[in-house]
Amino acid sequence: PPPTVTLSDRFARELPEMAVPWQAEAAPDPRLLVLNEPLAAELGLDPSWLRGPDGVGLLTGTAVPEGATPVAQAYAGHQFGGFVPRLGDGRALLLGELTDAGGRLRDLALKGSGRTPFARGGADGLAALGPMLREHVVSEAMHALGIPTTRSLAVVATGRPVRRETLLPGAVLARVAASHLRVGSFQYARATGDADLLRRLADHAIARHHPAAADAPQPYVALFDAVVAAQASLVARWMLVGFVHGVMNTDNVTVSGETIDYGPCAFLDAFDPATVYSSIDVGGRYAYGNQPIVAEWDLARFAEALLPLLADEQDAAVEVAVASLGGFRPAYNAAWSDGMRAKLGLPEGLEEEVARALYDDLLALLAAGRVDLTSFSRGLSGAARGAAEPTRELFLDLAGIDGWLARWRALGPDADAMDRVNPVYVPRNHLVEEALAAASDGDLDPLHRLLDAVTRPFEERPGLERYAGPAPESFGAYTTFC
Ligand code: AMP
Ligand code: MG
Ligand code: MG
Repeated sequence: PPPTVTLSDRFARELPEMAVPWQAEAAPDPRLLVLNEPLAAELGLDPSWLRGPDGVGLLTGTAVPEGATPVAQAYAGHQFGGFVPRLGDGRALLLGELTDAGGRLRDLALKGSGRTPFARGGADGLAALGPMLREHVVSEAMHALGIPTTRSLAVVATGRPVRRETLLPGAVLARVAASHLRVGSFQYARATGDADLLRRLADHAIARHHPAAADAPQPYVALFDAVVAAQASLVARWMLVGFVHGVMNTDNVTVSGETIDYGPCAFLDAFDPATVYSSIDVGGRYAYGNQPIVAEWDLARFAEALLPLLADEQDAAVEVAVASLGGFRPAYNAAWSDGMRAKLGLPEGLEEEVARALYDDLLALLAAGRVDLTSFSRGLSGAARGAAEPTRELFLDLAGIDGWLARWRALGPDADAMDRVNPVYVPRNHLVEEALAAASDGDLDPLHRLLDAVTRPFEERPGLERYAGPAPESFGAYTTFC
């Protein structure tokens, strides 16, 4: 690789107890399937170099720059409520940190790069092409929607088959993140009983993500507050676009506030808070409507991990943690209400009770009619311009929606502002599946067309009508696997 690719090893140096130096497995027949050129440019990486053999070597971890120290990261996590003290990167590697064009430090990591010492049981350390392309599409769609997220730099098919229910083509995803620190990282450090490690991890997190906390009277309390605020805002953004993460275990909750781990995620079409897509979420723990509550639960686990840093005495620390965690609901409600106000094109400074009743009544109407959230939200600007019929038609309760529209119109919605925040295109489940199936058969055209739609989500374009609507009835109930 040319000298321009400089990967630092800050995480590995500052937190060696949580970093196992490791190497990627060979990729017998690597083929670059998608490259995110705008992201490459942002990272100061030359796209034509990335397409060449040295670049593909970097993107599969088989040829890393001199001086880089790829590591598997240790973390713990609550999975569906049960604590697992040692999870870690079973099939991922942190190649190192890059300084991007804006001077920010970004992790460059791989997913699907082979077994590591953290791989459990018969886990093979590999990833199938479909799920890696799904992460590419959905994470880039989230980014285009303005929602904090890890990014996907590239997906490379390895030429190595992966055994799942059948044999599938294998792939490696190159992921870029503000960092891969998660609540589970803190749970791991705490579980070691090494107070110095926990403190170094917290200092590392403050320096990378919440530098203002360093100057606060109690930096670790400020760190916790900052993560609570970041997660409250993030989950509100998910709810406003109908995103269902699917597996909000504490190892999938970042300290940066970025969305991470696109496994069994999906977008709502019929609005229903009980919606679950993941095949393994039989209890509905991570249903659409539960996401705010679950985020709060995950943050309570974060507080527990941080306790020794929050105060000298345990009782005092608990008191501090409870008070700070109490900030989650107001922060979430404020972020959600503000986002809802923007979606509905309404001015700031609405009377709180009027706004709340308007939102609650809308949610009830959406749920009663199982209305497609994206079509409704985008179409509503038409109603603000005087063409209410397409919106009305989405509802069963016509008297109900007419009454609601009249109340809403009286508040003076701004149609143009609505079109800037309500996407036309989100990665519709049936279109994602269609694109992944075609890609697995060697045809990348549907994937590129879908990417084109969802990476400019607010720009309605002719010829893309089929990307703007919900799945046809014939698509049936949707189940995701991770
Ligand atoms: P996730 O459900 O993707 O958040 O992953 C939970 C844990 O399972 C992490 O420790 C992963 O590294 C590990 N894991 C998931 N899939 C594999 C695999 N195919 N091989 C090894 N480890 C895996
Ligand atoms: Mg994970
Ligand atoms: Mg996963």
